[in-house]
Amino acid sequence: MDLQKIRADFPILSREVYGKPLVYFDNGATTQKPRQVVDAITDEYYSVNANVHRGVHFLSQQATELHEASRETVRKFIHAGSTNEIIFTRGTTESINLFVSSFGEEFMQEGDEVILSVMEHHSNIVPWQLLAAKRGIAIKVIPMNDRGELLLDEYKQLFSERTKIVSVAHVSNVLGTVNPVKEMIRYAHGQGVPVLVDGAQSIPHMPVDVQDLDADFYVFSGHKVYGPTGVGVLYGKEEWLDKMPPYQGGGEMIQHVSFERTTFNELPFKFEAGTPDYIGTTGLAKALDYVSAIGMEKIAAHEHELTTYAMTRLKEIPGMRIFGEAEEKGSVISFLVGDIHHFDMGTLLDRLGIAVRTGHHCAQPLMQRLGIEGTVRASFGLYNTKEEIDVLVAGIERVSRMF
Ligand code: PLP
Repeated sequence: MDLQKIRADFPILSREVYGKPLVYFDNGATTQKPRQVVDAITDEYYSVNANVHRGVHFLSQQATELHEASRETVRKFIHAGSTNEIIFTRGTTESINLFVSSFGEEFMQEGDEVILSVMEHHSNIVPWQLLAAKRGIAIKVIPMNDRGELLLDEYKQLFSERTKIVSVAHVSNVLGTVNPVKEMIRYAHGQGVPVLVDGAQSIPHMPVDVQDLDADFYVFSGHKVYGPTGVGVLYGKEEWLDKMPPYQGGGEMIQHVSFERTTFNELPFKFEAGTPDYIGTTGLAKALDYVSAIGMEKIAAHEHELTTYAMTRLKEIPGMRIFGEAEEKGSVISFLVGDIHHFDMGTLLDRLGIAVRTGHHCAQPLMQRLGIEGTVRASFGLYNTKEEIDVLVAGIERVSRMF
């Protein structure tokens, strides 16, 4: 990977913060955008913009073609079988809410169960709790060991005849653990249970093949994979999506409306009420083209090297406590140093130009499991370098000395 060339595509990486070169290690929260993505968005607004699907005029048709071509780009990127299986949403959170609402309505009754893991993001917990309050479903939780690996034997014990769905993160946004979702899906299918994979933290970092995983549903956000904010995806197997009711009502998702009776559009439009973010989908497709051109395998290898290097260097710091040391670990490192509060560490690192995240990372149940309030989290992207990790290590050492 030509890092110099890649970094030049991201203008923000050459800016300074408090007079220091920016070191951006908050990629788990959102990634920076390459010029190619921003240019595609600007170009579409300047030269194509028109509402999609409904117009006979030239611009509307061109905008529709771009929007549907983006769907095909997503399909190819995750190796889905059909564009009917690609639903555009606002992001991971909306994808999960759509899923829980629609799947829950059709397939879950009082007393039915969902299996989640202890390391889920709030967006894969709270929608289920809302459904539990409405429908009386029960939530079961897969525990983990102290390295941050899910306990698969215990996972298998959680299944009962009332289990209707497993919903689990592919990669933990706190621990970096890459969960063995393929194996988990195989087991669940053996029990006749479908699986949703939260891919928010896997899509930017590794090749994803939903058919190889045999995932029934897979969700992600565009902004975490170098695309724009406000657009995301729910992938679902057609056989499931066909049986699921619409999530929102409005334009686009209907075939025919009368006050007596409305019929719904076919997939994927049944789940896409209202004007979609058709400019956002163009930006997302450009982002996927961008990472594909580099190669997801190469990105994964580069980030693995960065993570291995960072783990070694960080462990040299006295008082360093790292949370998440799974055998299979992505490019996320959560830590605390001595008794320095994560917020103080983050604030002082910021003064040195280093952007990290602090707090509970929308995973409070996981914090409870770890017996802490929060961590400092450094998360790497394709453009990060070993030199930047050296800056982080020096920064942490400097902050540590101050305490
Ligand atoms: N799931 C995981 C594992 C995440 O890391 C995040 C965001 O950090 C989300 C879900 C929610 O993503 P979004 O806020 O883009 O909807």
